[in-house]
Amino acid sequence: MKDFSLDIYRELLEALLAKGYKLISYRDYVMTSCRNDETSKSRKEEEKFVILRHDVDAKPGNSLKTAQIEKSMGARATYYFRIPEVTKGGQKGPSGMSYPEIVRAIVKLGHEIGYHYEDMSLCGGDVEQAWGHFKTWLEYFRQYYAVETICMHGAPRSKWDSKDLWKGYDKETGKNYDYKELGVIGEPYLDTDFSDVFYLTDTGRCWDGYKVSVRDRIPGYQEEWSKKGLNWHTTHELIKAIEEGKLPKHVMITTHPQRWTNDSIAWWKELVLQNLKNIIKGLIVG
Ligand SMILES: [Zn+2]
Repeated sequence: MKDFSLDIYRELLEALLAKGYKLISYRDYVMTSCRNDETSKSRKEEEKFVILRHDVDAKPGNSLKTAQIEKSMGARATYYFRIPEVTKGGQKGPSGMSYPEIVRAIVKLGHEIGYHYEDMSLCGGDVEQAWGHFKTWLEYFRQYYAVETICMHGAPRSKWDSKDLWKGYDKETGKNYDYKELGVIGEPYLDTDFSDVFYLTDTGRCWDGYKVSVRDRIPGYQEEWSKKGLNWHTTHELIKAIEEGKLPKHVMITTHPQRWTNDSIAWWKELVLQNLKNIIKGLIVG
């Protein structure tokens, strides 16, 4: 079976379910982790869960496919959508559906939708303008879903870090811009307890791409996880580790659905392009 195909994605979820992991959205995680009473604490310690996070950087049609697989398995995931994809508007993609139609279909399957923000890059680093831009687009996504969580887009080629928006502040009050004032309850990079939740991402089209990724990594914890041997390159290796009970109890898995396809031509294209990108990133980091 080919890696990064929809078939192996289904197999990955099946392996997790077989080991007793609950497959939850980021909102589900925030809602349970902020309850600090004893019952929820002890339950949390025993319970195994995987937060299924998807960054929809491109090809939104692919996300509908992973969303359908998840639905068929009783899982709820979170899909973070970017603006550049939205501005393609009513244009029909290869799937024959427009972007808003895809967002609506994913909502209908019971998944969570969030805003994959990159306002700093889109506003050329002007933090005041970026804050206004952020608020406008959050409202845009709220036409489709009552958005409660947001997640930064890593934008490896941009010189701005999307999270720098939170360093900006209101000149009159001196208070930092705060998404929580807008009814947003969580941001995976900022509101996850990584001393408890292990992080896995398919950045770089493998599971150990944090070595070459500038932004999609968890500083401070990544080194510790590597030392513990929590390193897998292919999805086959990851599934084997799950079956052997080597995966920690609490995990966040981030995938980019544009990489996951059963279509041969798209699959080869993604493989070749990603290998080239990894070589270039390796040159920058190294
Ligand atoms: Zn992204």
